[in-house]
Amino acid sequence: MDTDLRQAAKDYLVRYGGDSFPNLFRSARGTVVTDSEGREYLDFTSGQMCATIGHNHPAIVEAVHRAGQKAFHLFSGMIPEVVVELAATLARDWLPGDLERTIFINTGSEATEVALRMAKMFTDGYEVLALGGSWHGITGGAGSVSMASDRKGYGVPAPGVFVIPEPNAYRPYIPGATDEEAALANLDLALRMFDMQSAGRGAAIIVEPVISAGGVLVPPKAFLQALRQAADDRGMLLIFDEAQTAFGRIGTRTGAEYFGVVPDIMTMSKTLGGGLPLAAVATTARIEEALHDRHFTYYTSHVSDPLTAEVGLAVLKVIAEEGLIERARTMGAYLRGRLQELQQRYEVIGDVRGLGLLIGVELVRDRASKAPAHELGALTTAKCFESGLSMNIRRRPERGSVWRIAPPLTVSTDEVDRAVDILEKSLRASLD
Ligand code: PMP
Repeated sequence: MDTDLRQAAKDYLVRYGGDSFPNLFRSARGTVVTDSEGREYLDFTSGQMCATIGHNHPAIVEAVHRAGQKAFHLFSGMIPEVVVELAATLARDWLPGDLERTIFINTGSEATEVALRMAKMFTDGYEVLALGGSWHGITGGAGSVSMASDRKGYGVPAPGVFVIPEPNAYRPYIPGATDEEAALANLDLALRMFDMQSAGRGAAIIVEPVISAGGVLVPPKAFLQALRQAADDRGMLLIFDEAQTAFGRIGTRTGAEYFGVVPDIMTMSKTLGGGLPLAAVATTARIEEALHDRHFTYYTSHVSDPLTAEVGLAVLKVIAEEGLIERARTMGAYLRGRLQELQQRYEVIGDVRGLGLLIGVELVRDRASKAPAHELGALTTAKCFESGLSMNIRRRPERGSVWRIAPPLTVSTDEVDRAVDILEKSLRASLD
């Protein structure tokens, strides 16, 4: 059966890039994913960073059944009750500052498209500042404000995008400067260049509060505050892409809350749907009123879908009831401590960083040169998988090899211990 299906996979599927495993997979519960042969893997990637409350949480399964009793999908002009409940819950309990009006769509890429569309229409501009190492999605507009590596070969990106170097405390662009000094000096330079080249049609600055795909980089708080100021000074809107940082993973409700900066627009996706395709974009009443006056449009086949809204409500309830935000902090500190122990024993672990249960471990050939250990990273990741641990390694030629370690927030101490043991054994075997 598995052999036939593997052959069918070769015959009938489009290969879509990224790292893929040789096996086929059947099911997932909590932190554990099971393949077609019944082998189990600890999932320290939370799927594609979506399963923050664990895979197939009973509350999600119930929500899907509930939606089955009501409606999965309606005409875009028919607003389902549950969509209003979700928007109100976000505004009352989760969103920072004066963000209170939300639109619901499907993916993170789409959320970026919506946010950019809002900012362009609101400002009547088109210029966008984005961090060079960011990932905001793969579609045309979102890909144009994301790192260049995955858009080569697909034609000309959207015009008007200016790049700010992302703060990187481990590999600062200005050697010798402290993290904060280097980040602010780079930003200052980038803004001066922007001001020289700008046609005065600035629309937005877009940023992930923690730069995740770019190597789990936590910027200094002053950097995000300076972006807030830079946007205000130029009449641009500040967009936070909280695909990964919203709803608990970093130990706060949102990245905005952790950094003490309120954006004008906030995108949410992966962590809101808990594994189902739900994304959202929130903004202020003032901006929404202005957009509506200008006939803002964004209706798709699945805008305001009741099925995913039902699930989103369930996910938020679980996070609150199971105390998962607090858990991200305590389990994050525990996991990070265990990884720091490894760092003391292995020269090749150059850096351990992150917030809550979003942790980056950077692999280097040696600590003095900080030369990226790409082969070691790939080999160790493969060995981890063979031993039952699924890990994601971000390999960028110019940015090093970084494991993004991000299990579900429901992960147990025993699962963390088992994962760290597998990681250590795999690393040792790769070094031999
Ligand atoms: N923004 C961020 C911060 C992301 O991590 C991702 C997904 N990696 C996206 C946007 C794009 O989301 P999606 O893949 O759901 O389109």
